[in-house]
Amino acid sequence: MKIYVLTDLEGVAGVSRWDQTGTDTPGYPQAVRLMTEELRACVAGIQQADPSAEIWVWDGHGPGSVDVDRFPRGARLLSRGPISPPYHLDESFDALFFLGQHAMAGTENANLAHTYSSASVEYYKINGQELGEFGCRAAMAGAMGVPTVFVSGDDKMAAEARALVPGIYAAEVKVGLGLQLALHMAPEDARDLIRDVAREATAHVQDIPPFVIPGPYTQEIMVWGRTDPQSYMGRGFRLTGPRTLVKHADSLNDLSV
Ligand SMILES: [Zn+2]
Repeated sequence: MKIYVLTDLEGVAGVSRWDQTGTDTPGYPQAVRLMTEELRACVAGIQQADPSAEIWVWDGHGPGSVDVDRFPRGARLLSRGPISPPYHLDESFDALFFLGQHAMAGTENANLAHTYSSASVEYYKINGQELGEFGCRAAMAGAMGVPTVFVSGDDKMAAEARALVPGIYAAEVKVGLGLQLALHMAPEDARDLIRDVAREATAHVQDIPPFVIPGPYTQEIMVWGRTDPQSYMGRGFRLTGPRTLVKHADSLNDLSV
């Protein structure tokens, strides 16, 4: 089996404030350690179900969130260079996993919720449906026939995932109580949960159909009031309002996902 693990930092147990997620923030080194231990647990769970699994890990957090020294043996790390959709994901993969993921911008009481840019994006819509990073990238995988079978993060992320992918294996490692407040599992308990859920997800990859949004595609992005929408214009978007941009494409890979 060939599995793609997309990692982020905001959905990790023990991480719940912006001052933990940027390289210049005081909590960042610890957050990276916590993330990397969750990654080790996730990979261990996959390997328990399929010892010969080929596992690719993409460090998807903006400034990175994987401690390479502690990267799990047997997996391979796709890390830290210019990269664009579909992030070397292709039809050869059997499943997509989201580890340490956060809910979309605007989700009530979701911990560290945002959509791509916490500083500039109010929402993303594809064909009229509001989607966060999970939904956009699950759809990107789905267009290739790759099912999204696992997610970890807070309870709000799990609910967002279940609404799009019924039956997805979700490890809820914290309860979101606000944008920068969560009720966290102990890190070691969170790792045990992730290992168990990742093992089950790997064993049941065949049971979950790909999340598919039929094309062609129209993406609408609304930016916050202080964001210059011109920054999106070079990527093929056109302004449809003072804060809204639209782009049409036949492939999700040509959109901002
Ligand atoms: Zn992130």
